[in-house]
Amino acid sequence: MKTRLAVLTLPVLFLCGLQVSGQNPPAPLGEQLRVYRQAHEKQILTEFVNLLSIPNHAGDTADIERNAKAVSAMLQARGVTVRLLRVPGASPVVFGELRTPGATRTIGVYAHYDGQPTDPAQWQHPPFSPVLRDASGKVVDWQAQEHFDPQARIYARSTSDDKAPIEATMAALDALRAAHVVPSVNLKFFFEGEEEAGSPHLAEILAKYPETLSADAWLLCDGPVHQSGRMQVDYGARGDIDVEMTVYGPAHPLHSGHYGNWAPNPIVLLTHLLDSMRDDDAHILIPGFYDDVRPLTPSEKRMLAETPAADAQLEQELAIAQPEGDGAKLAAQILKPAINVRGIQAGHVGGQAANVISTEARASLDIRLVPDQTPERVRREIEQHIARQGFFIVRQTPDLATRRAHAKVIKLEWGPGLSRLSRAGG
Ligand SMILES: [Zn+2]
Repeated sequence: MKTRLAVLTLPVLFLCGLQVSGQNPPAPLGEQLRVYRQAHEKQILTEFVNLLSIPNHAGDTADIERNAKAVSAMLQARGVTVRLLRVPGASPVVFGELRTPGATRTIGVYAHYDGQPTDPAQWQHPPFSPVLRDASGKVVDWQAQEHFDPQARIYARSTSDDKAPIEATMAALDALRAAHVVPSVNLKFFFEGEEEAGSPHLAEILAKYPETLSADAWLLCDGPVHQSGRMQVDYGARGDIDVEMTVYGPAHPLHSGHYGNWAPNPIVLLTHLLDSMRDDDAHILIPGFYDDVRPLTPSEKRMLAETPAADAQLEQELAIAQPEGDGAKLAAQILKPAINVRGIQAGHVGGQAANVISTEARASLDIRLVPDQTPERVRREIEQHIARQGFFIVRQTPDLATRRAHAKVIKLEWGPGLSRLSRAGG
């Protein structure tokens, strides 16, 4: 099996830090930071490798505590005041604060120190024994080097997602200090320990520490570099809610030769419902769905126009002859709300196919929301739309009496939305 990729290009180390520049004009400061980085590559890499060597599966409490301790120590070494934020049953959040006298604004930096579970059998090297590979993929002895090819890659769990921003933050703080730059803002650091488990306690932690965690803006350092390989700053991330839908047919599976054309087919009911919600060009067909969407400002439009487009390269790589969206660029499409059909399940296919009318059909959707849309309103609009298609909506599995009483019954189970996009990104 191929090694799972976990990549970090060294320049990415400074993505977060550049946001906190002080009084100096940006160009000279950027140059100073670059010089600092070049002079300290080995030191940065050594600290990073040490962090990557601590196993960090969200379920392993002892290892998670070791990570939290290590990250705390890294912050403390930079003069950051650190405490662990805890709620019962949760991995601790490493919270740090660096106040600037006289500063009136606060920037928060988010990253997570936990990682996905690993299957060592699928790794060419143990996932928590980092190795450096050069651009050709050959393992090189990084300890014998002082400077590193930016095209080299470190392989270890969480190298990119999401310990890189933690090390980047440390390096940025060091570089700013070396340049005698005092941040013009207060800084808060929030390093989560169970993001890959779906952040099950994040809402509780936010609710428990509202003052501690207030900031004027947050940098969420948990996303991909641009497809062109260049660093990028995203100015927001779409919200996400999800719903499980189950549509019902006859109480027992029926033979299609005996009952086809008579017994309602739940798969057809479901696919027609999905078709009524979204077309194959990504337009959402639910009336009123776009009413709340805040239009792009002129400056947002300008930034969009200036974003380098990697569409042609991606279309080639992903074998997409025609993307959704009427010719709009990817960067524009992800600024719009979206309904994604993330799964559909009913009946059987291939060797298991049978001439049967199924009893139920299920679909799973995730719905991406943009500024000024609210989950409550979107849920209501979707439910009203489903009701207008003739469905009787239930929250629990319907009994036979309910199914006898209504031509079309659908069970809707709303979830809070999983922030994971199966790790295509943040
Ligand atoms: Zn992540």
